[in-house]
Amino acid sequence: MMIPQPFPQASDATPAAEAARVTPMMEQYLEIKAAHPGLLLFYRMGDFYELFFEDAEIASKTLGIVLTKRGKHQGLDIPMCGVPVERSEDYLHRLIAAGHRVAVCEQTEDPAAARARGNKSVVRRDVVRLVTPGTLTEDTLLDARANNYLLAIARSRASAGGDRIGLAWIDISTAEFIVTECAVGELAATLSRINPHEVIVTDALYGDPDLGPLLRQLPAVTPLTRDVFDGSTAERRLCDYFAVATMDGLSAMSRLEATAAAAAVTYIDRTQVGRRPPLSPPAREAAGTTMAIDPATRANLELTRTLAGERRGSLLDAIDCSVTAAGSRLLAQRLAAPLTDSAAIARRLDAIAAFVADTAARDDIRSTLRAAPDMSRALARLSVGRGGPRDLAGLRDGIVAADAALARLARLEDPPAEVLAVMAALRRPSRQLAHEFERALAEQLPLIKRDGGFVREGYEAALDETRSLRDASRLVVAAMQARYAELTGVKGLKIRHNNVLGYFVEVTAQHGDKLMTPPLNASFIHRQTLAGQTRFTTAELGEIEARIANAGDRALGLELEIFERLSAMAADASDDLRAAAHAFARLDVATALAKLAVDDNYVRPEVDASLGFSIEGGRHPVVEQALKRDGHPFIANNCDLSPPQAGTGKAGAGQIWLITGPNMAGKSTFLRQNALIALMAQTGCFVPAKRARIGIVDRLFSRVGAADDLARGRSTFMVEMVETAVILNQASERSLVILDEIGRGTATFDGLSIAWAAIEHLHESNRCRALFATHYHELTALSAKLPRMFNVTVRVKEWQGDVVFLHEVLPGSADRSYGIQVAKLAGLPAAVIARAKSVLAKLEAQDRGQTARALADDLPLFAVPSRAAAEPAPPSEAERLVEAVRALHPDEMSPRDALEALYALKAKLPKP
Ligand code: ADP
Repeated sequence: MMIPQPFPQASDATPAAEAARVTPMMEQYLEIKAAHPGLLLFYRMGDFYELFFEDAEIASKTLGIVLTKRGKHQGLDIPMCGVPVERSEDYLHRLIAAGHRVAVCEQTEDPAAARARGNKSVVRRDVVRLVTPGTLTEDTLLDARANNYLLAIARSRASAGGDRIGLAWIDISTAEFIVTECAVGELAATLSRINPHEVIVTDALYGDPDLGPLLRQLPAVTPLTRDVFDGSTAERRLCDYFAVATMDGLSAMSRLEATAAAAAVTYIDRTQVGRRPPLSPPAREAAGTTMAIDPATRANLELTRTLAGERRGSLLDAIDCSVTAAGSRLLAQRLAAPLTDSAAIARRLDAIAAFVADTAARDDIRSTLRAAPDMSRALARLSVGRGGPRDLAGLRDGIVAADAALARLARLEDPPAEVLAVMAALRRPSRQLAHEFERALAEQLPLIKRDGGFVREGYEAALDETRSLRDASRLVVAAMQARYAELTGVKGLKIRHNNVLGYFVEVTAQHGDKLMTPPLNASFIHRQTLAGQTRFTTAELGEIEARIANAGDRALGLELEIFERLSAMAADASDDLRAAAHAFARLDVATALAKLAVDDNYVRPEVDASLGFSIEGGRHPVVEQALKRDGHPFIANNCDLSPPQAGTGKAGAGQIWLITGPNMAGKSTFLRQNALIALMAQTGCFVPAKRARIGIVDRLFSRVGAADDLARGRSTFMVEMVETAVILNQASERSLVILDEIGRGTATFDGLSIAWAAIEHLHESNRCRALFATHYHELTALSAKLPRMFNVTVRVKEWQGDVVFLHEVLPGSADRSYGIQVAKLAGLPAAVIARAKSVLAKLEAQDRGQTARALADDLPLFAVPSRAAAEPAPPSEAERLVEAVRALHPDEMSPRDALEALYALKAKLPKP
């Protein structure tokens, strides 16, 4: 380990004075450390980043590296550990993944310059970058196929409740920047949709009793001081970042959105320490333009991750046939936020249809795309000074690929609007740029620019000249080696080079003595003795060394200048390059979904503004693939929840299907497949069905499968009820609800009663389209009373005492549970099966079904109160006062606000 700046140890000080002494370097370290609270400090010393004190302990534990000691501070040993600079990305990756944030502190002057100032001087150092989970750009630190969002959350207080939340999220590795606003109640759903890697909030919000717990569950939350979220300076900070005079040209944001947006750019500014990655102007996402999906539903349906947290086995994994990382990212984004505008959906579907129809175009475009590099991320790295020659080459290849794609797209007959837009974007980047890069870049490119050798010969005369000087000197070294061998008579004499000694002469140990005795020792100066070799230098070698180093340094300097010039050209063209990169992603998604549609036999869904929902021959996209791998067919099923025709029931509201059938029959699969088909249709994908017509779904709700949420202290049943409550309180006529086995986590009669009441509520109050799977056959009696409720069952056959699953969904209800048959299939001991059968026979004699039918007859029809009637009683005066006091937030009020609040409270008191 090379430590050019060891801690100076004062030898003549008394022990006590020494203990109190802080070395100049430690002083510098502590000052820098104090300026970056909460971050691990990577303190550059030569070829290592060193960590001290608690940072060293954390890093050594997280990274599994040795903890050592270095000097003393206030009488105690200083714990230290270090990571080599050239492997630091790997270590950073692991620290970030473990939830840490890191401040990277570099030496900002040559150690020689520090020495020149006096021998006690410490090399100047500065933090050049904060590495946080939401502000990464390096390929090695990022998942190529997923976006990496930093999200800022701002809140505005409304005195009568109804606080609003402003959100701004940025992926600096692709320059995407989006803002939106939502109600507090929608925050959880919005968070799960955006899936940020890092969240910033004010300290106050982080400590908020209502929202704090939700925020603290997120992966990396950084609380910041209020000034970052100061609404009054937001516009100025945004204008400053985008270097514009007013925000008018950017996007019409609400004040709250601007507050969040300004917080996000301020944080990026801080983490990048002076290098501002270019961002797209903030795009505003209007409320209600995407299907609302709450976190539980998102998790239950396993859209982008399975319940176990894996990508494999998720819907995204099943339908992602894209060939580029940017395509995967776009598909994941779209799947997370299905649209509610049928025209926008149709536009996406048109593009897929064009590539379904034209196999040759689809295949050609996909092979062109395979060669297209990830331009957005290359561009982002270049813009923050972390790019390499291969990123420049990536942009060059991207433009070349754009030409190839354009040539192919031009041959399409009657291209749809989406394809025309893609073509327009692909035409944008300057071809001159690609030409210049092509001229400038060598065939073989190093990963990092400091390695040099990436500029093509013949591109710049000055560089060629310096290079030949350097190479000529190398030839001189070769000649010198031959000459020395002859002079010394040591045939195996070699001239070698390393970073410590520079050029040196090396002979095997047995010849070492010869060179150390006269006359040879006059020219050969001994430097090092190793086990098998002895090393020497000569004055002549020193001179050559300086010449080579100078020429090499000059050549590298020139190359780096060229690199900067090319990077600046790329930065100037960044808007056009990004537009082209996004167009590639759109093209990738369209062709990939077309391929999926053809390979897996998907159809174009009809999506309209009705309340219809009719699926013929629907299949589950993930289960189907799994069965196919095992050589089993998937049984397709129909589902129709459309409002009954006028005159046949209460028109204008969707149907509820009650699904009964034994375990393992396929109820859950059926429920999920219908939800997924609706979701895919609104994402603008073809769907696994023969035919699908879907009236836009505004919100999708699901209660499928029970998962204990023990981390938050909730039992399975509690989780189930909380999720059910959300659905019954929020589902509208436009919503789609799927409920699986409600009320199963409690005693039979409790559970049955809850399920019963829930169905009535869905039918009468929510009036949504719903699928309800249950074990309680008693519930089927409800269809007699609820005109829009229908019973269906998943057919099974009994054969020689065993149950055979047919997976067919048909009208009717299951005659029994077949629970004992399924238990038998599962291998329960025969004695237990036999005993269970006899207990069942006794129980059945009591006939629970009878009770249920009686209940359906006896209970007043539609005992569920309507929504209006279910409103709670208006609050009393005392309650109103308490509410008003609760809504006050003294820490966030100016003295004037406080005074006004006091008057308002007084006015609320009952008149005497
Ligand atoms: P349930 O919810 O009724 O207990 P599941 O939906 O979990 O049943 O289905 C059990 C298994 O049956 C699934 O894992 C799948 O392998 C198979 N299955 C379900 N539906 C079908 C179908 N339509 N065609 C073929 N196999 C199916």
